[in-house]
Amino acid sequence: MECQKCGRKIKSRYIIKIASYSAHDGLDVNLLDLGKDIKKEIKKLVKIASKKSEKQLLEDIYTLDEFWLCKECRDGFIKQIRSSFRYGGKH
Ligand SMILES: [Zn+2]
Repeated sequence: MECQKCGRKIKSRYIIKIASYSAHDGLDVNLLDLGKDIKKEIKKLVKIASKKSEKQLLEDIYTLDEFWLCKECRDGFIKQIRSSFRYGGKH
């Protein structure tokens, strides 16, 4: 198994998951519920969707990316992410 950033072999991988979703009313899904409720919510929205393709619509309201990193790249990644937000966050 190789790190997806630096390509080196990794013994113990770190999994980075980036979920982004619209916090619009009715789709304020708790991260813990992701996977369980999100499909239902998306299907609901797809039903009332306009001309956009299903894929486009899904991207509009929900994205999920997953990366496998070595510890070094993970540390760098987290540091970079945290420093890129100037105005703090919820946590
Ligand atoms: Zn790496």
